[in-house]
Order: sequence, then structure tokens, then C-alpha cells
Amino acid sequence: MFYFDNFYGKKILKSSLLADFDCFFTTREFVLTSAQRDDLIKDASYNRALLLEKTSCDEICTAKQIHSANISIVENNKYFYDETDALISNIENSIMLLNFADCVPIILYSPKDNVGAIIHAGWRGTALNIAFLSAEKMIDNFNIKPSNIIALIGPSIGKCCFETDYDVFDKLILDRLDKSLYIEKNGKYYIDLKLLNKNQLVKAGIQNIDICDYCTCCMSDIFFSYRKEQGITARHSAIVKIKRG
Ligand SMILES: [Zn+2]
Repeated sequence: MFYFDNFYGKKILKSSLLADFDCFFTTREFVLTSAQRDDLIKDASYNRALLLEKTSCDEICTAKQIHSANISIVENNKYFYDETDALISNIENSIMLLNFADCVPIILYSPKDNVGAIIHAGWRGTALNIAFLSAEKMIDNFNIKPSNIIALIGPSIGKCCFETDYDVFDKLILDRLDKSLYIEKNGKYYIDLKLLNKNQLVKAGIQNIDICDYCTCCMSDIFFSYRKEQGITARHSAIVKIKRG
């Protein structure tokens, strides 16, 4: 179950499945990147310093996201990953972050192994199977039992608002008979990106999955929405801190 909490005065979204871990999604109150907005440089640098101080970490590990299926395993003392849409780490006492505005943010964490991942799954990443591939890479590289992994599918654009034309529908929905994945209305397709990603995680053997019901487009007062704000927006983030074993 997802619930709003606060991180030293800043509104965040957590799941009861990882309540005791620093694994969460931020909101408009807690901007950590100013990449799209010069006016947020001050806020973002203040918030990054706050995050590092309160988690006792030295640097934030992040990536240049390009809607690919490129996945990186975090290395010691390397904090930036070019053209990467998923980060996987087992480096104790380190923090990683990816940014979102409508795309599906996914956190994977194994409390038993202290290995975690953040996945950026927009419709392109979803079509490229990035959730499945990232889960598989985490499981294989660190020899993790899929049953030890907890998955959080965070706030993203919902089926209510993710209206597409046939070309996107054609790339995303391979099983046309599964009507839980989409609604067809007046020649448009409303697609459930969160459910598509959940299905990929299940295929990788993960059973413990919490899905956030919130739609970033409907709730653009709390989250950033690329679609609602017509591209002129900032980003909320997914955060994972790897605990000491
Ligand atoms: Zn919506």
C-alpha cells in the first residue's frame, strides 16, 4: 500500500512493503533536478544536499535517461551513467536517483541481499521490455532469488489519461485479447503502462509487487506531468538507498 510521508518536511510517497528503507518517490515539493528548469536550480541543489545529509551518503548516482533499454550496474566511485534507463546497485550506503514526469518509475529492492534498482519505463522502455530485462539482470548478476525482491511501481500517467494512436498501441499491446491492458474508444487507445510493467516483473519471477494507483496527469498538483503541462515541466524522482548489509 502506498502512503504519503515526509522526508524532513518534504512530501514523499512510500510503500508499506519498504517502509523501513530509503526507497521512495518524490513530489513537486522535493525537486532534485533542475535539468529542464533554470528557476529550480536553487531548490534542487538545496534538496540534493538535504537528501545526502539525511541519508549519510556522499554523492547521488544518476543517469542521462533516453527512453532506451540500456541498463547499468553501478560501479564504485562512478556517479553518472550516460544513456541509461535503469541502474542496479549493491554498493552499501550509496544512493541512486532517476527522474520522471508521467513515465513509469519502478523500484526493485531485495532487503535480504541489499541490492536495488531503479527503472525508467516510458512507453518506449515498456515496449523494449526494460522492466523484465532489468529484473533479470539484477537476479542473474547478484544471484538473487526473485522471491526476495520487492517491486514498487510508482506514480505515472494512468490508463485514464494515456491516450495513444494506433502506432503506439501496436508496439505496446501484443495480446489484443487481454482487455485489462487497454480501452479502445473513438479510434484512440488508452493504455495501462503500469499493468504492462507489472506483467514484465511477474514474468521475471517477482511476486511481491505494490502498484501505485495515482495518475500523474490527474494529480499534477502533486506530481509533474509532461502531458498535462505540455512539456513545460520539471521532474519528480525515484530514490533508492542501498543499506549496509
Ligand atoms: Zn489520469
